[in-house]
Order: sequence, then C-alpha cells, then structure tokens
Amino acid sequence: MIQDIAPSRLYNSYIKTDICEGDFLLCFDSEGKLLTDTSGDRIVFPRYENEEQLSAVYAFSVDDERYFIVLSECRDSGAGFEYKGLRTLRDSFGGKELFAAFTAYHLWRWYSDNHFCGRCGGKLSLHGRERALVCEKCGNVVYPRINPAVIVGVIKGDSILVTRYRSGYAHNALVAGFTEIGETLEETVAREVMEETGVRVKNIRYYKSQPWGMAQDMLVGFYCEADGSGEIHMDENELKYAEWVKREDVVLQPSDISLTNEMMKLFRDGNI
Ligand SMILES: [Zn+2]
Repeated sequence: MIQDIAPSRLYNSYIKTDICEGDFLLCFDSEGKLLTDTSGDRIVFPRYENEEQLSAVYAFSVDDERYFIVLSECRDSGAGFEYKGLRTLRDSFGGKELFAAFTAYHLWRWYSDNHFCGRCGGKLSLHGRERALVCEKCGNVVYPRINPAVIVGVIKGDSILVTRYRSGYAHNALVAGFTEIGETLEETVAREVMEETGVRVKNIRYYKSQPWGMAQDMLVGFYCEADGSGEIHMDENELKYAEWVKREDVVLQPSDISLTNEMMKLFRDGNI
C-alpha cells in the first residue's frame, strides 16, 4: 500500500520551524494538482532556494528530508516541473514520494478550505505551537479534519461481495462508505453493506487502515460474513455492479497500492 514505505518513514508530528534552503516544496494549484517533475522513474519535488519569497508551513518529514506546503501563490519551478493530479501520479509512481504527495494533499486541502472562522467569520491564521488555525477575532481554534470511512470485504462461503461504483473509480471495489455522526465503525459497516447491497452481515472484524485518500479520509478495512441468504438488492444510485464472486474469479485492480486491492487479493489467494 502507499503508506508501506519501510525502511523509510514519514514523521507527521508538527514542529514550528522556518523553511531552509533545500527543503522540499509542496505547491498545489487551485484544482489540487501538485507541482512535480515526473520525467524520471520517481516523483521529484521542487526545492526551496535561499531568500525566495513565499509563505509556507511545515508539513512533515520523510526520513531526514523536510517538506513544506506553500500557502502563497507558487512560482514557476523551472524546466521539467508541471502540475499533475494525484490520480495521474498514482497510476505511474509509488514509493515514499507518492505517500508524501497524498499526505500533502490532505493537509493542503484543509489549509485551503479554512481561511475564515466558521463561528464568527473572522480571519484564520496559523497557530504558533500546533497543527491548527486560530481565529484572530474570537479565538476559535480549528484542527485538521479527518473523515472516517470503511471498506468492507463481505464473505459468503467461498465468495466475496465485489462492487463497482456508479461514478468515479472504474475498477472492482468493495462496499465502502463514510461514518455518520453517532455510530461506531462496526455500525457503519453493517449500515453501508445493507444500504448498498441489501445484505445483512455478522462477525465484523477489523483488518487494517489506510491513512490517505482523495476525500481527506481515513479508510478502515473490515471483513465480515453474510448473515442469511446473502441475496443482493443493489442500490443503483451508488453502484453499477454488486455480485458474489468466487475466489478464483476475483479480478484485482490494475495497481497494487490500495487497501481495497490488498483485501481482495488476500481473499483471492485463500489467506482470509
Ligand atoms: Zn472566530
């Protein structure tokens, strides 16, 4: 998966620090595309040059390399650099740079969506000591937001419930959905499977989580079993396909980097 970058490691603790020459710059355009050089076999980010005028906030470090999100308008970073969407990067690259790109996107989206206080309309500015924004007028402190969501491998005997979404991602997937306020993750699992496919489930158990996504989400993976006949009544507003698929017939996604794909593969290979 994207976050599996060992022996490298992404250090996400916030530190208050100024940008220095050689630090990596994470420059997004208004559509959320990221400035990168993709001419080689790895993603390359621009580096900060001394005395460059820009506003940037520390994002994280990967090993001993520091990354900063540029909050001001981005400069032209010279030959070879261009703005690329994360889905495009994901199709061609992996490694620690891709994990850095997705993590940066989540943080940048939060910063760029929070210029004003939702309580009083005052201007938000960077908090001095932690990863937060603070309202200059009423003191309201705004923390980064992470949206919890589940991905569910529903098993019935020797088959798994494979879906395809009506819009967006085109390849095979599993039942997925966001947690509503007031429910546990396990309740989200049962509700989403019922809403999307009409199947009742039991023996819900946690598998793994995935700390990146385009929806500022934390995706939490569960396996469970169909309770009863497993007859499918598909929600046609959400899905265009929902079927029980035998292990040996499971067709995986084209790239090997998502929790969804890992969960389908584990089942296909008889390891769950
Ligand atoms: Zn305020």
